[in-house]
Amino acid sequence: MKFERLETRYVVPDMGRKFSLGDVDGQARIIGPIRDMVVLHGFTSNGVEAWSAIDTVKFPIYGSESSTEAWALLQEVGETFIGKDFNSPRDAVHSLGYMINHYIFQAAFANLYLDAEAIEKGVPLYTLLGGEKEQVEIGVSIPKTATAEDIGKKITIEKFKRIKVKVGPTEEDYMKIASIKNSFPNVKLMIDANSSFDIRNNDHIKLLNKYGELDLLMIEQPLAHNDIAKHINLQNSFNQNSIPGNICLDESILTMDDLVMAVDGGIPIINIKVTRVGGLDIAKKMIEYCQNHKVDTWIGGMVELTAPGKAHSLAMAAHPGVTLPSDISGSAGYFIKNNDPYVRPMERENDGAVIKVPNTPGRGWEVDLNKMDKITKSTVVFPK
Ligand SMILES: [Mg+2]
Repeated sequence: MKFERLETRYVVPDMGRKFSLGDVDGQARIIGPIRDMVVLHGFTSNGVEAWSAIDTVKFPIYGSESSTEAWALLQEVGETFIGKDFNSPRDAVHSLGYMINHYIFQAAFANLYLDAEAIEKGVPLYTLLGGEKEQVEIGVSIPKTATAEDIGKKITIEKFKRIKVKVGPTEEDYMKIASIKNSFPNVKLMIDANSSFDIRNNDHIKLLNKYGELDLLMIEQPLAHNDIAKHINLQNSFNQNSIPGNICLDESILTMDDLVMAVDGGIPIINIKVTRVGGLDIAKKMIEYCQNHKVDTWIGGMVELTAPGKAHSLAMAAHPGVTLPSDISGSAGYFIKNNDPYVRPMERENDGAVIKVPNTPGRGWEVDLNKMDKITKSTVVFPK
């Protein structure tokens, strides 16, 4: 496969509200209300048009990558992607030259290749990735600012069966989660701490043990993004003290080596984000490693656009190794009207807990070019 043209866009869709990742060391980490990211539109020599996205956020608050840097980097390496023969998604990535980390950046090129391959072969993207499910079980991710009452509505009115709530290391957040668990004992309830707990702080450890005792579906990424070993120690400590808590890793898993270390160390659940790990082909390998080691996985979200980002995640979530509900909450979840550039919205079924995977060639959700143009701040085309 050869790409003869690459349109790159810096896009600024409006979420209409801020999305907090929680504070670390007293510093706020806020996404939005404008969700800066970069979109790629590739044209192959066979006439296929493919789409993908660099799902970074504006500043490096989630990981070390950012949209600000990605856009600058793209101007330097975009040209090298053009006119080369690729036989795999890794060929597409390697055309950019050697890069340390930058997995979200690289993922956009791997995913662009696979998006094009599915269209060219006339097969659904999910089957190209080894997927089998006709529909994917989903959950909702709820910001830290939500009240217990708001969360109750997600369960009773919107009918979500898996609820993830962002928390920080505070007693108030714990009390909120304990009250939800008490009111809705059958809901799959989980927390995501986004690295806001400090293993050296005794109050934080006491809170983590209390969360462990609540027997939640999982406790996602409580400790530092770069510390798999301490998460393994925490899980071992739960196990040794008969605390039922299950640790899930998210930000810590960037490479296959990270995954192997976590799984071999006894981490029971992994959140695999397609772009954070470097693309759909690597996500597939990770899911299959977990499947072989009886570790649960689910697909996480980056507040991405429906077409192409969410569509790529949904295709990956159709893999049989994805055993828990994924964070794909449909088009209406995050962006204000017409700021998510799809032709057909991604919608969950009426019971709120599944999205059907389309059995049509490609990713299944087309980009609305008019909507895309409206959210595009800058466009650069290669070759220049
Ligand atoms: Mg997370």
